[in-house]
Amino acid sequence: MLGENGLIIPEHINVAIIGAGPAGLGMARVLRDLAIPDVWVLERGSIGQTFLDWNKDTQFLTPSFPGNVFGMTDLNAISFDSSPGWALKREHPSGRDYQRYLDQAAMAFDLNVHCHITVEGLEPDGDSLALHTSKGEIRADYVIWAAGQFGAPSDGGLVGSEHGWHYSTFKSWRDMPGSEAYVIGGYESGIDAAVGLVNAGKSVTVFDVDAPWGDDHKDPSRALSPFTHQRLRDARRSGAITLEGHEEIVALEKEEDGVRILGGNGRSWLSPHAPILATGFTTGTRPIVQWFDYGDHGLPLLTPQDESTALPGLFLVGPEVSHNGHLFCFIYKFRQRFAVVARAIAGRMGADTAYLELYRDNNMYLDDLACCDDDKCLC
Ligand SMILES: Cc1cc2nc3c(=O)[nH]c(=O)nc-3n(C[C@H](O)[C@H](O)[C@H](O)COP(=O)(O)OP(=O)(O)OC[C@H]3O[C@@H](n4cnc5c(N)ncnc54)[C@H](O)[C@@H]3O)c2cc1C
Repeated sequence: MLGENGLIIPEHINVAIIGAGPAGLGMARVLRDLAIPDVWVLERGSIGQTFLDWNKDTQFLTPSFPGNVFGMTDLNAISFDSSPGWALKREHPSGRDYQRYLDQAAMAFDLNVHCHITVEGLEPDGDSLALHTSKGEIRADYVIWAAGQFGAPSDGGLVGSEHGWHYSTFKSWRDMPGSEAYVIGGYESGIDAAVGLVNAGKSVTVFDVDAPWGDDHKDPSRALSPFTHQRLRDARRSGAITLEGHEEIVALEKEEDGVRILGGNGRSWLSPHAPILATGFTTGTRPIVQWFDYGDHGLPLLTPQDESTALPGLFLVGPEVSHNGHLFCFIYKFRQRFAVVARAIAGRMGADTAYLELYRDNNMYLDDLACCDDDKCLC
């Protein structure tokens, strides 16, 4: 199979990693540390494509700080010996900033990344897995799915959602027409949109079926991050944000003067332009959906090694990994599972896994989930 720059990708490889985001690159780095040969990262766009696609006003919520030399790895790093905070000199990097860090990491770690190859599906083929790609077929003994969720926007099941614009389609909030905007969804992306729109000079109304801005949950996977609270507080001083909590939006209807937003409580609002749908993302496993079982929340079911319960040899890394109600949807969380997947693959290949203890020493090897407890913060 022909890869980038005329390079031939062998018909059969040991490990294919799909996606060159933080999960795919971080995973490739661990396998490289274990000297696993013939590991290929296949990426449909460029390295860190998701971060190139982010709105240019969006910044990381988790702060970057180079605590690595003291054993406290930068929260946004993909390895214990790199730090976006140090490399970029930014505490809350933008998407473009972070993409530069990923690009540098791929180069510094000499990762075998091949861009502009889309994996369209896979199926078992004897003892290996056959990948159908935009450039032809390739077989791998192990496949690690690291395709993220950003390419899979959800409309939240909203009736008339075709009259809205999904959050992920805006590259700058200044592109939003008019002076008045409506945002459906008040979690991280909804508040990010609202703050960006206020900074672009708009007045904004945010709806949410709950009221996440008042939720005090201790896990930032379930409540707004401190950075978002801080940005929201600052933006609210302008008086340009109205927060409508406990307001379920049930439908959008096109009218002559705009889009009517219908609330479940009988209220309605007329938005002069399409409202923003900050309704989240669905599963990024869609191209291979038949090779996972899914649990109650639509998340893939995984073995303790993060392998598909439906197809041996297929592993998942990244924000959709979950175990016993724990969500691994931040980089500092999901990077702790790379070593678990690496141990499973290296073990089956008969490779030495002793090096992984260094990952444990650096808090990047989480195989005991008892550590993740809501009651860890007492004040
Ligand atoms: C607004 C916003 C703010 C966020 N802030 C933070 C934060 O502060 N801290 C944090 O930890 N997380 C944050 N996140 C979440 C974080 O961005 C994701 O968890 C992270 O990007 C997931 O990494 P990944 O490598 O799994 O996926 P991605 O970064 O999405 O990378 C997946 C890669 O796979 C490629 N790909 C997809 N499908 C295919 C295919 N079929 N074939 C080949 N390649 C494919 C894509 O092009 C992409 O490059 C934020 C997310 C959003 C939307």
